[in-house]
Amino acid sequence: MAEELERSKAEEPKDTKPGFQNPVAGFGVTFKAMFKKRLTEQYPEQQKTTAPRFHGRHQLNRHPDGLEKCVGCELCAWACPADAIYVEGADNTDEERYSPGERYGRVYQINYARCILCGLCIEACPTRALTMTNEFELADSSRANLIYTKEQLLAGLEEGMVDSPHAIYPGTDEQDYYRGLVTEAAPGTERQVAHSKGEVVQEADSTFGGTEPASGKVAGR
Ligand code: SF4
Ligand code: SF4
Repeated sequence: MAEELERSKAEEPKDTKPGFQNPVAGFGVTFKAMFKKRLTEQYPEQQKTTAPRFHGRHQLNRHPDGLEKCVGCELCAWACPADAIYVEGADNTDEERYSPGERYGRVYQINYARCILCGLCIEACPTRALTMTNEFELADSSRANLIYTKEQLLAGLEEGMVDSPHAIYPGTDEQDYYRGLVTEAAPGTERQVAHSKGEVVQEADSTFGGTEPASGKVAGR
């Protein structure tokens, strides 16, 4: 027994540091960390710039005259592995036209409680109607608020655009839009009344209905 105790004592590592260093040695890691570059990000006071192709919130794009690119085909919804997209397509009419072709996306929702921002939906979109922005502040305390509607996802109006619904550019067809021949809304284009959304005709409202607006500029063919 005594022999075993002596052997274990002999195997114990010997403290080679002088006694007065022991309290300081305990802070070795702390002192080293004090002089390293700090990785803390002061978010949200200081916003970090994302990579240019960062996958953030989605956007439903418009043609240069303000009509919508989405044709309500649901390919994005079928491509989504998280079942986060809900689309309902509908037919355009001459009185209420949202996109240049036959169909448009009447209902469009993305559930950000499900979305994993993988980007498969934007790859599936045949019209480049759906793209992703760099916006990443999508947190919310309510599940309902995480379901973004078409109105929230639709791109804002830029110069030369008129909000949908409105008539197609006179003398053009859907193909011309995708060839990039329409570069702005035709002169005199006005927003139509969205009957399908419960809007009613106001006296001041002026619509083109089924007729085409005055002729205007179309990019050279
Ligand atoms: S980014 Fe991915 S998970 Fe999100 S809606 Fe698109 S396909 Fe679905
Ligand atoms: S966003 Fe693109 S893929 Fe999705 S319904 Fe619209 S056109 Fe089709």
